[in-house]
Amino acid sequence: MDETSLDVFSLIIVIYSNRLSNAPRVARLRPERVNMKIPVGVLGATGMVGQNYISLLSEHPWFEVRFVAASPRSAGKKYKEAVADRWQLAKIYTDAVGALTVHNANDVFAALEAHNAGQCAFVFSALEMGKNEIRDLEEAYAKAGVPVISNASAHRSTPDVPMLIAEVNPHHTDIIPFQQKNRGFEKGFIAVKPNCSIQSYITPFYALIKAGFEIKRAVVTTMQAVSGSGYPGVASLDVIDNIVPFIGGEEEKSELEPLKILGTVENGVIKSADAPIIAAHCNRVPVVDGHMACVSIEFGAKKPPIAEIKRIWANFIALPQELNLPFAPAHPIITREEDNRPQPRKDRDADKAMAVTVGRIRPCPVFDIRFVGLSHNTVRGAAGGGILNAELLKAKGFLEEAVGNETSR
Ligand code: NAP
Repeated sequence: MDETSLDVFSLIIVIYSNRLSNAPRVARLRPERVNMKIPVGVLGATGMVGQNYISLLSEHPWFEVRFVAASPRSAGKKYKEAVADRWQLAKIYTDAVGALTVHNANDVFAALEAHNAGQCAFVFSALEMGKNEIRDLEEAYAKAGVPVISNASAHRSTPDVPMLIAEVNPHHTDIIPFQQKNRGFEKGFIAVKPNCSIQSYITPFYALIKAGFEIKRAVVTTMQAVSGSGYPGVASLDVIDNIVPFIGGEEEKSELEPLKILGTVENGVIKSADAPIIAAHCNRVPVVDGHMACVSIEFGAKKPPIAEIKRIWANFIALPQELNLPFAPAHPIITREEDNRPQPRKDRDADKAMAVTVGRIRPCPVFDIRFVGLSHNTVRGAAGGGILNAELLKAKGFLEEAVGNETSR
């Protein structure tokens, strides 16, 4: 049986055992099937995004966390000790993860040892450090042969590093062989995901562009949750009963990252698109999770009627849905008709917190149309998006070398 059939087989067992009982899925699997999961590492496992990785991966049908790393402050502790006072999520980590020893993420050799021992096929990077430090560290992991799927911004503008939203630019993985050749990476590579604030409008934009409607310009005003600034993040006295109209670097990312994502792979680099030109206003608001964006857009010569826009968004699916990837939402864009939706508390968890919810689609007296978009920043915009990217990379065969024989142990 090849590796793909084994994964499918494990998935069938997970679904079947879940139907039989409400007991935790993994508990109903035979141990040898559990061991067939791909062992992965999480760098920055103690932080806000890292905790989401730990939580979301606890029942993942393909991946299993066996290596965790964070700052020297946490290194040497058991994971459960390192997060004892700061675990933020309702869903707790598994006993197996709680018992893992936290490594120093700066110690690439520790990850390489785990990689060679079959405990860490690749890493999710959720580190918060200086940009140059993260850039150098992620390159060191890739150079050592450990692929890096990153949430950090350090490599987002690097021309030979794909910045993936799995539904929008899955073909940007074509750059990876060029990256490996350019940098002398034999098995490792770096793939990143974009800033959490752009998820709530870039997929709706892409669906319209794919349907043949050019978007020339857009004005985007974001209202971003406090979890977006990590833990402990923005001080409570700064944000309770308040709105902070500045998030360092966020407006530049919100304006530029969509252009790379909508760009093309040409001659071994990703060439950014020229449009849409975006003006962003980014605000920190007293919401725990869920980034909202109020958006006005101007189309090119062809202007779709509102009913057509709704139809395009409702019918939009892409490669992750066609491949039936475990973390892919059934409908990447959910349209609400109520006047007062989407709302963070009511809509951020839609379809595993992986769907973008849009609403208030109406004419714009300045541009052409306006709408409100919402997505869960630490799931769709961070850990869940990273996991979906890993699923995409695995489905496309980019993780085969890193995984080696691990899945058939
Ligand atoms: P966070 O809560 O501050 O967590 C930071 C993590 O990095 C912790 O595990 C921390 O370990 C580790 N770390 C800090 N300094 C380190 C050092 N010198 N060496 C090694 N590890 C170090 O941050 P976060 O919100 O999870 O964000 C993580 C990354 O994801 C950032 O690059 C951020 O820009 C990006 N991101 C965040 C979001 C979001 O919604 N929060 C969304 C998209 C992308 P200790 O616990 O030991 O200090």
